[in-house]
Amino acid sequence: MFGSANPTPYDLRFSLFRIPVRVHPMFWLVGALMGWNAGDLPGTVLFIACLFVSILTHEMGHALSAQHYGWPAEIVLMAFGGLASYIPTRRISTAQRISVIFAGPGAGFLLYALVVFLEQLLITRGVINPDSPIVGESRLMGVFFYLKRINLWWGLFNLLPVYPLDGGQIARELLRAWRPWTGVELSLKISLVVGVAGAVWLFREGHTFPAVLFASLAFENFQTLQGRHF
Ligand SMILES: [Zn+2]
Repeated sequence: MFGSANPTPYDLRFSLFRIPVRVHPMFWLVGALMGWNAGDLPGTVLFIACLFVSILTHEMGHALSAQHYGWPAEIVLMAFGGLASYIPTRRISTAQRISVIFAGPGAGFLLYALVVFLEQLLITRGVINPDSPIVGESRLMGVFFYLKRINLWWGLFNLLPVYPLDGGQIARELLRAWRPWTGVELSLKISLVVGVAGAVWLFREGHTFPAVLFASLAFENFQTLQGRHF
């Protein structure tokens, strides 16, 4: 979603369910910075792996639902997230467009539910003990913890009505369907207000990094509103 995505010789490329995927080296670097723990390098690697699986699942949700409507799709993972882009080769309804947008967070919520189910199953079967100090077990618990946290919070964050997050795009589709002439402007204004409010609240709570992210999204929305001729 954010950051440069220009191809480099160090990109990892593969296909999944006939969808081409490219991973920019900055994805690994920013992932390492986000999960950095000098005293626990294997933990940092596990965090990056969980981030990779989670962001890929989110973007696969978008890409597979776009492919379902016959739109050729591709995925790029880069610094601070991913991007599923598709070519809208034929017109689809507002509800269908919303389903493509929601499929990203939706896929993440499904992965979250699957992880919660698997974790509970392993606990009730006695395979893992949440209070166990054994490293192997706590590693698995660590993987469950990262996957749950990333998929739940990333999905909820993404559904806020702030453009270009998925929630902002859903709000734009809904408002444009409701008011074809003023809907887009209204969605940008909502996006600006929620972006500023989110940034202020996050700063107060001491979450500097997401606060800066929100502030930059709000600023982008402000610039779009300024430059737009309605
Ligand atoms: Zn998304």
